[in-house]
Amino acid sequence: MKSDIRVCGDWETTHERPVYTLGDACPECGADAVNSAPAPFNPEDPYGAYRRRARLRARDGDEE
Ligand SMILES: [Zn+2]
Repeated sequence: MKSDIRVCGDWETTHERPVYTLGDACPECGADAVNSAPAPFNPEDPYGAYRRRARLRARDGDEE
């Protein structure tokens, strides 16, 4: 069964954390909401994961 939960397609740059919605658009910024299952981050933004790691590292010290 397919999940209807989507995530803001722009959350990596717009929000501190994923914004989930059941609709077609992010309720906070209005960006297109994408299916959350295969790619929780924007696949066209390959550096998003690195930015997120850097952000987590800065907040949590040496923990991954
Ligand atoms: Zn958003």
